[in-house]
Amino acid sequence: MVDCAQMLIAGEWCGGGAGTADVLNPATGAVIGAVAMADRADLDRALDAAAAAFVTWSRVSAYERSAILRKAADLLRSRAEAIGRLMTSEQGKPFPEAKGEVMGSADHIDWAAEEGRRIYGRVIPSRAPNVSQISHRVPLGVVAGFSPWNFPVSQAVRKIAGALGAGCPIIVKCPEETPFSCVELVRCFADAGVPAGVVNLVYGVPADISEYLIPAAPVRMITFTGSIPVGKHLGELAARHVKRCTLELGGHSPFIVAEDANVDAALALAVGLKFRNAGQVCASPSRFMVHERHYERFVDGFVKGAEALKVGEGFADGVQMGPLANARRLEAMEAFVADAAARGATVRTGGRRIGNEGYFYAPTVLTDVPDDARLMVEEPFGPVAPIAPFSSLETAIEKANQLPFALAAFAFGSSQHTVSQLADGLEAGMVSINHFGIASPETPFGGMKESGYGSEGGVEGMEAFVTTKFVSTATLAA
Ligand code: NAD
Repeated sequence: MVDCAQMLIAGEWCGGGAGTADVLNPATGAVIGAVAMADRADLDRALDAAAAAFVTWSRVSAYERSAILRKAADLLRSRAEAIGRLMTSEQGKPFPEAKGEVMGSADHIDWAAEEGRRIYGRVIPSRAPNVSQISHRVPLGVVAGFSPWNFPVSQAVRKIAGALGAGCPIIVKCPEETPFSCVELVRCFADAGVPAGVVNLVYGVPADISEYLIPAAPVRMITFTGSIPVGKHLGELAARHVKRCTLELGGHSPFIVAEDANVDAALALAVGLKFRNAGQVCASPSRFMVHERHYERFVDGFVKGAEALKVGEGFADGVQMGPLANARRLEAMEAFVADAAARGATVRTGGRRIGNEGYFYAPTVLTDVPDDARLMVEEPFGPVAPIAPFSSLETAIEKANQLPFALAAFAFGSSQHTVSQLADGLEAGMVSINHFGIASPETPFGGMKESGYGSEGGVEGMEAFVTTKFVSTATLAA
């Protein structure tokens, strides 16, 4: 039993004015602790602290900021084991994945630390000999971040490290379902010497917090990762108050296996990628399209792979897939599969809850799913894989592109012609061909269409936190 996850406001760890909420272990459904919930007075203190911190943090040299962030990264690495344990208890993913997420998050901090030192301005030739024209890239202001429960540390870290590296303070609302690992992430920044008010961590009723923080005057930028409906709502709020906004929303990623693909390599990647984090990954492949020549072999191999996965509590030896993160996801999977089956789909494996304790759902493979089934048009965000055959690659690409979401796309093919057809034709913010090649700190992560706008990671990710200040100076004789 762990205790109550606290908030960090103005450099003080504290409880919240709105009481607490329970935190559950999704493997058992048991209460494992509580999380402090903010009221408006707490948010006001966070806003005041962050506004004051902007004046000082934005003037700390990029070199010094970088040194502090690198220290936070080192602390995070050294605490990865303990933080990974907290994450598995509250989120359910297998412990090695949880620990790996923490280690990878330290790399994100290092990237932001170094990239923050390379935010360059521009000298623009002027029309007069005594005039200098400089375009500066300056920190935007206070950031309000909203991070989700599927990757409690690696989603929050992108927002925190990006903001801090660019010289912006942040108020981050981390997920109430998985608060303990986020507390420890933020503690690494505080222990590394990030001054009071630069990182503020809050929890609470998500809608109350976003509706209060987004319009607040000191907040200049909003960064949200979560579902499309919530993202649209927050985007509207941000637009109404003319605030910059990065939205990392859901997807429904196609996974195409072309006629000339290396099918063994495709299968080896597909099963692990689909069921990682029980499918609760925004870029998870969720519409498998396989050339008819390989279809039966692919389906058989995929079903075998799904059935061989060891599903269980995240600390148990050899477990490859944990429970779903909460009861909502379990209900969602049951509804997706029931809808598809009612429309004629065949359940090749899974399609049911495992046990009656915790939120386990069997790795599920469906075939013959009609295009109008909910599973084909809404993001499943769970361990359910529909597989369909195709005969023409052009048609498969067209189908892959027909949804309003466009986060990631995966494909296998070998000839140069196939690869360029896939790379050019697939509409997605991230296209990965013949391997898994997305989501590293140095590459841009983000979607097209309703999957959102803006990027996290890469040079593009840092751009989100700075704005342009143009200074034109004429030199005059006294
Ligand atoms: P949800 O839409 O209720 O919540 C998603 C996240 O947004 C949660 O962390 C939640 O706390 C937060 N949130 C919800 N309403 C908010 C508001 N008004 N203001 C600020 N934050 C708010 O959905 P859920 O049941 O928690 O998750 C399921 C859906 O969320 C999935 O279908 C998936 O599309 C999406 N999701 C996406 C990601 C991602 O990485 N893009 C991560 C988690 C969830």
